[in-house]
Amino acid sequence: MSKALSMAVFFLTAIIIVFPALIGRGCKMPAGALPNPDQRSSQVDSGAEIKTRVFRSDLGEVITLPLDEYLVGVVAAEMPASFDLEALKAQAVVARTYTVRRLTAFGGQGCERHPGADICSDFAHCQAWEPKEKSLGKWPADKAQGYLRKIRRAVQETSGLIIVSGGQPVDAVFHAHCGGHTENSEDVWSAASPYLRGVRCPYCKDSRWRETKHEFSGAQFAGALLPYISALPVSAAGRPLLDGAQRTATGRVRFLRVGGEQVSGREFRAALEMPSTKFSWRLDGDTVTFTTRGFGHGVGLCQHGADGQARAGKSYREIIHFYYTGVEIVPISGLAAYK
Ligand SMILES: [Zn+2]
Ligand SMILES: [Zn+2]
Repeated sequence: MSKALSMAVFFLTAIIIVFPALIGRGCKMPAGALPNPDQRSSQVDSGAEIKTRVFRSDLGEVITLPLDEYLVGVVAAEMPASFDLEALKAQAVVARTYTVRRLTAFGGQGCERHPGADICSDFAHCQAWEPKEKSLGKWPADKAQGYLRKIRRAVQETSGLIIVSGGQPVDAVFHAHCGGHTENSEDVWSAASPYLRGVRCPYCKDSRWRETKHEFSGAQFAGALLPYISALPVSAAGRPLLDGAQRTATGRVRFLRVGGEQVSGREFRAALEMPSTKFSWRLDGDTVTFTTRGFGHGVGLCQHGADGQARAGKSYREIIHFYYTGVEIVPISGLAAYK
């Protein structure tokens, strides 16, 4: 493959795979507020009652599924099925919370890209979802049925439950691995959120994402950064290749200078397809090697940490309260817009 072609493939891959993961999931809050907690039903609603119109990005058509059946396909797509049951339950509640914010029946905006659908299966736009056949096909044959049963159980045992803060469903963002400490939302995106506060997370330390190495030749590095800077860093005569890193309190790079030009940590991570902005580097001749910690933006629930906590005996409720500060876990029926 020619160098130009391989670089084009590299950029395309970065745009298709990495960039969508950086896009914050924005959607409008439902208009309704929760009534007085005393008036809430202690009964958990059946997710089977609530219809979800899902635009299947793979087929280009809208299908209608009971909420909980839809959530099985979301949890299967968003979290490794080998994770502990309590971690899968936490993910189910997170996914249900995200979905309810979109459902037009609850005052949500639906998927604005696909009129007539509440949500689409494009992870970069709404929320990842996969059909049962795909899940069964990707899991080891001897484990597949057990995994499906486990995910169904995670959804059923949390049926009807969502996470709220100030009477509204939260923006239940999550990521694969926090690298040891989750982030305040304003340190990654612009808006501060009372429930998206950074917490020290020692529970994900056994994962392979705790620390990874990424090596680039000078040419690879320069080519990847070209869209973000006006000159090749290798030709930045006399100026340090990388310097001036501004970091968050937990060590994620907000900005750094590449050959004297400022680049955001998020752009830098996307360009080099690195798993997180929590990185350091070492220059050795024509090679630059990055050491990164974690995988993902670091805000909200840490999936590997959730699994670590579950294996240490924590419940899904404890896991959710650990990663989302000051929230409540309540039945959907508490929402005023509930029909
Ligand atoms: Zn969508
Ligand atoms: Zn963690």
